[in-house]
Amino acid sequence: MSRKNQRPVLTPEEKGLLTRLIEKGVKEIKPRIGPEGVTYDGLEDLAEEHGWQKLRQLLESLGDKGYLIVKEHDRAIFCPKCGAVHVYSKYTCPRCQSANVNRMELIEHPFCGYIGDRESFVSEDDLVCPNCKTNLGAADGASPGDGSRQDYKVIGTTFECEKCGYRFNRPNVLHVCQVCGANFDYKTARYEKLYAYEVPEQVAEVLGCAPRKDAILAPLESALRARGYQVERDGEVRGLSGGEHTFNIVAQKGSERVVVDVSMEGSQNDIISLLGKKMDVNPTTTVLIDMSDSEELSALGKVYGIKVLNGKDKNLEGSFISHLNLTESKKAEKTPQTVSVKKNE
Ligand SMILES: [Zn+2]
Ligand SMILES: [Zn+2]
Ligand SMILES: [Zn+2]
Repeated sequence: MSRKNQRPVLTPEEKGLLTRLIEKGVKEIKPRIGPEGVTYDGLEDLAEEHGWQKLRQLLESLGDKGYLIVKEHDRAIFCPKCGAVHVYSKYTCPRCQSANVNRMELIEHPFCGYIGDRESFVSEDDLVCPNCKTNLGAADGASPGDGSRQDYKVIGTTFECEKCGYRFNRPNVLHVCQVCGANFDYKTARYEKLYAYEVPEQVAEVLGCAPRKDAILAPLESALRARGYQVERDGEVRGLSGGEHTFNIVAQKGSERVVVDVSMEGSQNDIISLLGKKMDVNPTTTVLIDMSDSEELSALGKVYGIKVLNGKDKNLEGSFISHLNLTESKKAEKTPQTVSVKKNE
């Protein structure tokens, strides 16, 4: 489970989930089977994003890759067709597969040697041997057990098929999926382990990419302040459309405005959303700190006129400052647009 040095690479989704678990301070994750399938207490908000099924897959792969401590918790039958855990079971006839089978209790009357199912003994409120007509006492009573003529023995249970009349000791078990209606048996069922997980203390470090947004933003804010910018965290800026947009950092110095967002997971949506805000707000420069170091974001950034900086770069602050230098040196060529900043009070 733990490959200490060379950890497998995480997909953006896996990394995103792990980051959220760390941010939420989750320590332990336990599965539960309920109306929604396999769920995990305390992860309802994450399930809204991913869906429970996807969430379970992501947790499993995080476990496989050694980022979560895996513990076997339980097992469950899953539909082989749709993967649902909403499965109920029926008994079927081994000969004709009909589910119309009844369980019977077999009774022996040692006095005459007759053996038959309980139903055949029941006569009104009593048990009466169908062979020798001896009354064996109340139907809801017990055998006297004294070796007398009224003595009887329950010798076992058996099943009888209503459809073909076949009698058998052990029915087949048929599983039915309540979601897709698939029928399956033990040979084709997905009988799988349900895991509980622990989020190891050191995972945030190991992840290497999950510093809090604050840790990423603070040095950039200091760099901006050192250059005389007024800096606002999660500042709102009113755009030309009249709409207000929030950026992780809004920095203003005279007519110059720097806006910075952080993409924790390197999702394309992050840069597209930033592009929309940028077009409306028209800052002097727009920076996206990409914590996933995605080549795609970097390439899109060039097209969108957004400076994408690698958030994992040890010299992120230096790269940010060089970018500010470049921006300020180009300032003269730009025609600054005046847009009002909404100040938080
Ligand atoms: Zn009898
Ligand atoms: Zn049958
Ligand atoms: Zn199904």
